[in-house]
This record gives sequence, structure tokens and C-alpha cells, in this order.
Amino acid sequence: MNHGQHHYAELSSIFYPHDITGADKDLVGDNSKTTCLFCGQSRPNVTFKKDAHVIPAGLGNRTLFYLNECDTCNTRFSYYENELVNFLTFDRIFISAQKRPGSGAPKYKQKGKQSALEMNSGKLNIAILEQEGIFNVAEKEGQNIITFKINNPPPYRPEDICKCLTHMGWALLEDEDKTLVSYVPNWLLGKIDIYPLYLDTAFVPGNGFANVILEVLKTTHADSINYPYLIRFTYGTKIISFYLPASPDIKCAPLLYSYCPHIPENAAVSPTTWTIPSNERIKPDDITYTWSYRDKDPRTDIKV
Ligand SMILES: [Zn+2]
Repeated sequence: MNHGQHHYAELSSIFYPHDITGADKDLVGDNSKTTCLFCGQSRPNVTFKKDAHVIPAGLGNRTLFYLNECDTCNTRFSYYENELVNFLTFDRIFISAQKRPGSGAPKYKQKGKQSALEMNSGKLNIAILEQEGIFNVAEKEGQNIITFKINNPPPYRPEDICKCLTHMGWALLEDEDKTLVSYVPNWLLGKIDIYPLYLDTAFVPGNGFANVILEVLKTTHADSINYPYLIRFTYGTKIISFYLPASPDIKCAPLLYSYCPHIPENAAVSPTTWTIPSNERIKPDDITYTWSYRDKDPRTDIKV
């Protein structure tokens, strides 16, 4: 692919395994400060009792937390996290990321239904009850290729995905960077709106990235000055990039930045650019995956 001109440079990044089960906590913030990083409130107006995850717990983070995030802000941000986790539902399954320690292999199953998708010890188990109409499978005879359609996958709100990425990326910004985009906390807290928002998503073929990668890139060129920071989140088979505007009134689209060192040179990757005009929630009709496989177990019937 053509990586184009390098108009951003990496400012800071975090790599971590899909499931961190270690006991060591990595805390972002300053213990001596008693005000919330986002709303600016202090005790006793707000409490600081809950774990404030930098990267959502639902995506495997057990160790990386904000020190100075109050419980009220934490509750608000958890809604944004849910939208990102919904968007990455199937990536989570394909890379076997546990939702909670000891919760076992991740599974996709709609409430009250039998059809299910589960990755267990490197094997993808698919349970299909045809009359439920949740999954459709098409196979090319003799080619070891399967096309798998998931109907009514979880909905997600793209605006909240942008906010969730920004909430994560805030941990990687220095104070001087935060000053340049000082409107961000108010935007995250819903005090101001910014539309349109610009987000790229790229699907990278293969088994998914071995690490979760959070990166903040900073502009190095006048061409991207309206979007001084790019927050990039790599998870499973997806790379999601959010262009953080210099101010809430920037309307022009950012210059696409497609260079990503994590993408193998020969991979055919073309990012999709999203222009997000509102806080609308998207309910996709279906998602289709095409897989090639080495071998397949014989089919067994679901007992109902
Ligand atoms: Zn707060």
C-alpha cells in the first residue's frame, strides 16, 4: 500500500497482551492531585472508589488505571467503553480475550438463544440453530473456505467510540499537549458537541494482532495542523484511528494517515473513513467474515 507522506509522528504508545493477569498495577496520574482529571471536581463532591480503566476491562485490561478519575466520570465513560466493546465483539472472540479473569473463553450468544460462537484453545466452535436465523454459513466445496454471516450483531455508537479512544489517549498526553486541546474534557463529559467527527477503521486480514496497541501520534506537518493528534487503537483484526481536532469548530476533513508500522508490508489493507454527523447509534443488519481453515471437525447436532 502507499503509505503516503509521514505527517504524524509517534508521541507515545502502550503495548499489552490481550489478557493481563499480573498483579502489578500501572497507574496514570498524580497521587498528590485530588481533583478529577476530567471534571475538575474534588472530594467530598465526588468519590474516587472505583477502578478507572484506561483501556476497557472488557478488552482485557486488568492493570492500567487512571488515578485521578472520579466515580461520576467513570460511570459516564463506561457507556463509551461498552460501545467500543460491542464494535469489537467478534475480534475479542477471534483472539480469545477474556472479559474477566477466569471467565473462560469469550463467547457470542444472544440472550435466550442456542446459536453461539466461541473460541476455545485455538478452535472456533460454532453452534447454529437454523430457525433462529442468527448465523448463516456458506462453504466452497473442497477449498477450505467458509463464509460466515452474523445477523443482527451488537449495535454501537461511532461518536462514543471516538470518545472512548480519546479517553484512552488522554493517558498518553503530556500536560502541554492537553493544554493545546483543552476542550477535550468538556467534550468527553457531553458539555459540548463536535460534528462531524472523523474516524478510520482498517481491517487487517489474518489471525489478529498479538498485542493490544494504544498510540498517540502528533502532527509534524502543516497539512494536519487542524487535527494535531491521532489516537490509534489496534485490537484483534482492526486498527481504529481517531483524528482529534484542534478545536471544536474544525469542520474540514483531516488528511488521511494510513502509515502504520504494525501492518505487514504485503497485507492488502484499505482503511474506511467514517464521517460521523451525529450521535446516532448504528444497528448493522449483518457482518460477514470469510475464513480459510486447516481442518474442521464433523458437524454435530445441537440438542434442544
Ligand atoms: Zn470527574
